[in-house]
Amino acid sequence: MSLSLILPRWYDLHAHFRQDDLIAPLVQAHLSMGCCGILAMPNTSPPVAKIFDTDSLPYTSLESYRRQLQDAANGLLETIIVPLYLTAQTTPQMIAAGAHTGLLKACKYYPPHGTTGAMHGAPLELFIQNGVLRAMEEHNVILCVHGEAHDLAAEKYFDEKTNAEDLFYREMLPPVLDAFPRLKIVAEHITTRTAAEFVARGPDTLAASITPQHLLYTVGHLLKGLRYHLYCLPLPKFSDDRAALQEAVLDKSNQKFFAGTDSAPHAQKTTDCGCAAGCFTGGIAPQLYAQAFEEAGCNLEDPAQQKIFAAFLCENGPTFYGLPVAQKTFQLRKEPQNIHTLKIGSHEIVPLPLGMRADMNAQRATLPWQVHL
Ligand SMILES: [Zn+2]
Repeated sequence: MSLSLILPRWYDLHAHFRQDDLIAPLVQAHLSMGCCGILAMPNTSPPVAKIFDTDSLPYTSLESYRRQLQDAANGLLETIIVPLYLTAQTTPQMIAAGAHTGLLKACKYYPPHGTTGAMHGAPLELFIQNGVLRAMEEHNVILCVHGEAHDLAAEKYFDEKTNAEDLFYREMLPPVLDAFPRLKIVAEHITTRTAAEFVARGPDTLAASITPQHLLYTVGHLLKGLRYHLYCLPLPKFSDDRAALQEAVLDKSNQKFFAGTDSAPHAQKTTDCGCAAGCFTGGIAPQLYAQAFEEAGCNLEDPAQQKIFAAFLCENGPTFYGLPVAQKTFQLRKEPQNIHTLKIGSHEIVPLPLGMRADMNAQRATLPWQVHL
């Protein structure tokens, strides 16, 4: 009999579901991997940067995007959180009104031009000064941060001793914690030892999501053979950074670090000069997390270590967001699974493990784990 884990259904607390015809198949991919809840990031085009359909701003409304996700899930997702994209037009009044209706649970900070769809972002200082973070703190709205400093010289963006994420957690986030001690903050998709240690040492109001790719890979995996399907932001870092993330999730008292895949499908990964940021892990994330835990030295045959894995995947995230741990379960079984591209209309989306293969003509890749619902 192969090893089998029975786990509570889990929440992917950071994922991208795009828009229009892509939404339904992408939501289905999440349902197929045992998700009971999702946090759907708002960097659509136009971004989800107003609350109500009736607001006059030229953005997608949180109300309508959430409705589209609900329709796509056909009642099968218990929780759908859409954070509001923070722009220069976001006001404390919008936060209060959104929170009062129950629609607004979180807001997302994007460093201006820092990643895909981040051109509407505004500097963090603006939200410290204009009352938006104050309103979020008062109304118990969680701040999700893409933690990278912006407008940096290339040497500072990614260097031996420092990088955009390192600078963000050393210099930009501490004043926010000081000024808003009750504001709950999620450091999204952290990649560095600096961030992991900052979150671990920080107050209970601070937690972090970690992707499968940042637990599995380093920047060397990206560069060796230029495996551009691994290109995501923040970039995977060095082995000491990956070790810090692994230590954080394998700590038996971990309550602060949780699953958020940052699954981000791109039909066209490469551009004329560059590459779209994001790895697609829809349908296969629990499998990849289990693989990452094992590669980090976790023995998933040991019930005590299974508990650590379950806390990371299924419990810490919802608990931080004030959501119930799911009663329904799913099964993660240690049996090889072949995976394929996801075809949606004329698009073909390559899941990360397939994109990591040296032979680009290979039609499939094999994972060590399978999900059964
Ligand atoms: Zn993301």
